Amino acid sequence: MRIRVLGSAAGGGFPQWNCGCPNCRGVRAGTIRATPRRQESIAVRSDGTGWFLLNTSPEIREQIESFPGLHPQAPRHSPIQAIVLTNGDLDHTLGLLSLRESHPLVVYATERMRRGFTEGNVLYRTLQRFPGQVTWRALSLGSESELAGVDGKGSGLWIEAVPVPGKLPIHLESQGVGDPEDNIGLRIREAATGRRLAYFPAAGGLTPMVGKALDDADCVFFDGTFWSGDELPAQGLGTKRADDMAHLPVGGPGGSLAALHGLRASRRIYIHVNNTNPLLREDSPERKEAEAAGWEIAGDGMEVSL
Ligand SMILES: [Zn+2]
Ligand SMILES: [Zn+2]
Repeated sequence: MRIRVLGSAAGGGFPQWNCGCPNCRGVRAGTIRATPRRQESIAVRSDGTGWFLLNTSPEIREQIESFPGLHPQAPRHSPIQAIVLTNGDLDHTLGLLSLRESHPLVVYATERMRRGFTEGNVLYRTLQRFPGQVTWRALSLGSESELAGVDGKGSGLWIEAVPVPGKLPIHLESQGVGDPEDNIGLRIREAATGRRLAYFPAAGGLTPMVGKALDDADCVFFDGTFWSGDELPAQGLGTKRADDMAHLPVGGPGGSLAALHGLRASRRIYIHVNNTNPLLREDSPERKEAEAAGWEIAGDGMEVSL
């Protein structure tokens, strides 16, 4: 299995357009040891097949251009076989609307996510210009199915959606109560090698099902949004705490770094890192603590071969 990180930042990216926090100012000015990052998305493939995107960020066009593996090989062509969504937040879905140039798309999502994106969304009509422009394939929680592209041919990658504590996208918060289908993590198994990826970019907490998916994996990507619960209020950036936004912080006694210390995965990588997070600074004590525990911090362009 080959994995390519297209974007490693949380919503807003790094730096974020309206943010003057010390990290964002420092990376703009070149005065801190940190690298800009696009919003979270990765591409995955097994040998001999095209790429499957996990999430499509608002920066999808640049992300495709940044990676030759995703460039067309014919006058009208894309190596992108399908897109898999982990929740309905705009930083994970808005890129779909940018892929509107009359190209057939396959999107894997839970039924809740599909409805949340398509119902009452006038802009979705841009993806309904011809019959079959978008084929939605339903992910049901806890069952494994083989990923396939537009032609329906199997990819050799088997996927399972795992419910993860989360929340509704902000634009749907007034529309109802949450559901386990609103936020998922993914287990992806390569049939030929048996190698497993666990992809959990947004996790409000750990459950036995999440723990099992992480325990079984050879490579783990996990929610690295915030180092601490009060990261935003402490920097004068509003009142929301990490748990209000359904993100388990990395640091501290109740954080993921402590909770996930026993994982056997040879690659453990924090992704979906918010621009305020001290992990972005290559020389910060928090970064050193995470690295000493065997974790890496995802950067754009990072590749993993499993
Ligand atoms: Zn996000
Ligand atoms: Zn910032």
